Parts: sequence; C-alpha cells; structure tokens
Amino acid sequence: MRTEKIMKLPKVESGGKGITNKHDTKARAMRIARVSGDLAPERVTAILKGLDEAYPDVECALDHRSPWELLVATILSAQCTDARVNMVTPDLFRRFPTAAAMARATLPELEALVRTTGFFRNKAKSIQGAAKKITEEFGGKVPQTLAELITVPGAARKTANVVLGVCFGKAEGVVVDTHVFRIARRLGLAKGDTPQKVEQELMKVLPQERSISFSHQLIHHGRQVCDARKPKCDRCNLEQLCQSKDKTWSS
Ligand code: SF4
Repeated sequence: MRTEKIMKLPKVESGGKGITNKHDTKARAMRIARVSGDLAPERVTAILKGLDEAYPDVECALDHRSPWELLVATILSAQCTDARVNMVTPDLFRRFPTAAAMARATLPELEALVRTTGFFRNKAKSIQGAAKKITEEFGGKVPQTLAELITVPGAARKTANVVLGVCFGKAEGVVVDTHVFRIARRLGLAKGDTPQKVEQELMKVLPQERSISFSHQLIHHGRQVCDARKPKCDRCNLEQLCQSKDKTWSS
C-alpha cells in the first residue's frame, strides 16, 4: 500500500447508522475518488475506519478450541452456515477429539456426523484426508505456513488463510469468501472475477496488519447489511464511500 499523506475524514458514527457531517463527508469522499480513484489511500483508510467503527470486536464465528478444530470447521463451512457447523462440531470432536483419532475413523462414521452440513460425502473424505495428512506428515500439528497448509486435503487457500489468520495471527493472504468477494467489488477495492484475483488485489491495497480483521468485518457486514440480493444501503455507514451499481439507496 502506498504511504502518502492521509487525508482525515470526519468521524464515522458507531452502530452502522450513518456518518456525521454528511455533506462534508460526501464531498470529500467524491473528491478523493475523483482525484485518486477508488484505491486512493485516503479512501481505503476511510473504509477501514468505517468498518472498525461498525464492527470493532469481530472474530471468527466458527467455534473451535484449537487450530485443528478450526481447520475441520472451516472445511465443513463450505456451502453451509457457520451456525449449522457449530451445531455439528461438538459431537464430531467429542467422538474424535484429535487428528489422530479422526484419521482412524471410517468414512460412514464421519458422513453420519457431518451429514447436515451438506456435501457430506466429500466433506467426510476431506476431513479424514486432512486428519491422515496432519497425523502422518506434520506430527499431529496443523502447519503454520500457507505452502504447507494448502497441501492438506480440503484446505484450499481460503481455508488456509482462515486458520493462519485466526490461530497463528499470520496474514499471508486475505480470506475471500462470498461476502468478501461481493463487498470488495461493490466498494471498488477489487475488480477481479474470481476469489483468487480479488485476493491478489486486496493484498496490494490493504495494510498487512488489517487483512485478517478486514475479512471478518466484511463477512459481518455482508450478513448484517450488505446483503447479496438487497443491500440495506440506508443502514450502511460506508454508503457515502460506495458507488456500487447495486446500491438500493443513496444519500
Ligand atoms: S452502500 Fe450498499 S452496496 Fe455499498 S457497501 Fe453499503 S450496503 Fe453494500
């Protein structure tokens, strides 16, 4: 990210209910976008500040007690809500508390336990494969590098980034799920048409220390405000910084 002088924007109110001094803020936001484009450092800073104001204490919504449990929960969360995964994992980890125990489980046992998360046959195979790989090649411990993690069955880049960011505080990439993909594009922070391209764009524009919290905040924003079909723009504290064609309301 470039390190030009940051232009201070007026304070953003908490609670996602709007921005103080709206006309002034809008004029500045438009000026920033006009002069420097969507990726102007001032604009990115204003977006990050708005997210901090609206979602100050975000954290991973998947229940877990260890990197291994988060890895499994993240694999299970594909095409499934976090709430549903959180209903399934307590029984799963009670029955198979470690990677070594899960590596010895049969597929029918795992399928029965993860059935309600959808795509359960593939997911059972993935978590069994992950358990075997971690037991046999990583001494039972979840590896702490992206390069190693993406060799684990079921752990693509997004899953690896979740585990590295949440459990090890390592931001080697940016978690781009469906919410991050959609909102980053709506906010003009990325233009790519695949999660991989959007991740590369976000890695260039975000300060590295913000890439973990940014994803969590956008996921919350997507669930609460920036809905895929009908975003609640009248409740969005980023509205004046957003020029998306999907907007349902403009101040
Ligand atoms: S203004 Fe609307 S489209 Fe833009 S980020 Fe906010 S909710 Fe999403």
